[in-house]
Amino acid sequence: MTSPERAGRPGRESRTFFSVGGRESMNGLQQLETKRRKLVALSIRAIEKLGQALRGELIEPGDVGYDEARKVWNGLIDKWPVAIARCSGTADVMVCVNFAREHRMPFTVRGGGHNVAGRALCDGGLVIDLSAMRSVRVDPAARTVRAQGGATLGDIDHETQPFGLAVPLGLVSATGAAGLCLHGGAGWLTRRYGLTLDNLISVDIVTADGQLRRAGEKENADLFWAVRGGGGNFGVVTSFEFRAYPVGPEVWFLATLYPMSHAASLLKAVRDFAAAAPEEFGILASLWSAAPGSPISEQYRGAPVLAVLGCYSGPFEQGQAVIQPLRELAEPIADFSGPMPFAQVQTFLDADYPDGMLYYWKSAYLRRLDDEVINVLIDHAARRPSALSSLDVWFLGGAFGRVPPDKTAFARRDVPYVLGIEANWRESSQSDANIAWARAVYDAAQPFAHGLYLNFPGFVEDGDKLLQGAYEANYPRLQSIKAKYDPDNLFQGALNIPPKA
Ligand SMILES: Cc1cc2nc3c(=O)[nH]c(=O)nc-3n(C[C@H](O)[C@H](O)[C@H](O)COP(=O)(O)OP(=O)(O)OC[C@H]3O[C@@H](n4cnc5c(N)ncnc54)[C@H](O)[C@@H]3O)c2cc1C
Repeated sequence: MTSPERAGRPGRESRTFFSVGGRESMNGLQQLETKRRKLVALSIRAIEKLGQALRGELIEPGDVGYDEARKVWNGLIDKWPVAIARCSGTADVMVCVNFAREHRMPFTVRGGGHNVAGRALCDGGLVIDLSAMRSVRVDPAARTVRAQGGATLGDIDHETQPFGLAVPLGLVSATGAAGLCLHGGAGWLTRRYGLTLDNLISVDIVTADGQLRRAGEKENADLFWAVRGGGGNFGVVTSFEFRAYPVGPEVWFLATLYPMSHAASLLKAVRDFAAAAPEEFGILASLWSAAPGSPISEQYRGAPVLAVLGCYSGPFEQGQAVIQPLRELAEPIADFSGPMPFAQVQTFLDADYPDGMLYYWKSAYLRRLDDEVINVLIDHAARRPSALSSLDVWFLGGAFGRVPPDKTAFARRDVPYVLGIEANWRESSQSDANIAWARAVYDAAQPFAHGLYLNFPGFVEDGDKLLQGAYEANYPRLQSIKAKYDPDNLFQGALNIPPKA
């Protein structure tokens, strides 16, 4: 199986932590062993000290809860950190960053644990775990929201919707807002209000020197520019301040399933409709399969479908008329559309992405969605090794496309569509086939593609090339801001942007 970095066992980490090198001569072996023992003892003492300095829990191999704490959403990920620091607040985060720097210990940062490549965890290093830092505070009058660095999308929606407000976020409620926002944040409100990162007002961030900084338009503006798209390269964000907008409580939701046999013509119809649709209408078309049971009628259970999904968040009384044409493209297999509380829309897809299942996701921005591209997508959809997998076309434009490419680090604004390539499966014996399928779709999309969305980057196989492609002209500026705030490149757990002064 192509599981990433499936290696290591508890006890091995100390050697990684204080690397003793591998080139000593045979007659130096005894000396080396003495040195190794000293270093292991030192590492244990250092970790003990870290545990004492934290207010939150420090979880180590062998502790009850270690195995639970090193689980992330994607069941493919199996990593063995040397310790997991479950931070209780900013002070703990500062302790962790200082510890990691002083001891030259590799580390990663965990927000919601939903990074598909498992970048929240590392083998043999420290995990700065923010999963206990999830508080959200809404200022309804100012329409602003403060969310701690471990808050999930569901945490934010839960607090904002009672005030009839929403921050533009993603589609599945257990996703971490931090990881999602730092590389973009696309969802039902993107065409109307832009990405999550476009709605960031400021961050509190602990940088590599262990200092807490505020970054916004007027304060550390270079850092603020960089975190809006630059991922976790610049520090640990302990708190995000977002703009919120009046949305809901009721909106019009679209979820109509059509037979796959009509997919080519219907996808063209959705494309043409989306080009002229109001920006309040977020639209996604998915080559997928119907659920294998109720409420799908018996003859269509598990059948391949084109699912046309959307959310109209504009004036409620206009919603039905706006979404109706996409419900009548042909005779549907099933139609779950109708008025729905926005909070429910935000959890509608949750059940399709359970914790611990096996996932591999890639993406490609598409320049066009013409017959040639549609045929490629339909052809590959027919070859999905797992009925749970899908090819999703997200319709962009609107507010997303109006942001100048150099306004934030997120450079790709001129593309009309992003293709999400989702391989989702249950049996580990099927991993190779599913990962190979997703990679084949990615390769087939390259002639029409313009880079990749960094929130769906596979296992970052293309490394530096992938990042340069995503950031284009913004890349050198990101590298120089990295050199200013993290000259020794401590923050490597993210998609790493190497510093360059
Ligand atoms: C089920 C599911 C649905 C999704 N839906 C969408 C969607 O609708 N729209 C969309 O745009 N994306 C979506 N994504 C992709 C998602 O945005 C990314 O996977 C993102 O990385 C998840 O963030 P997280 O905080 O949960 O990640 P984690 O795995 O916790 O962290 C990933 C990386 O983010 C960085 N990071 C996390 N927290 C912090 C912090 N506080 N400070 C600094 N760095 C931090 C670190 O570098 C870390 O390595 C979805 C993913 C899943 C699994």
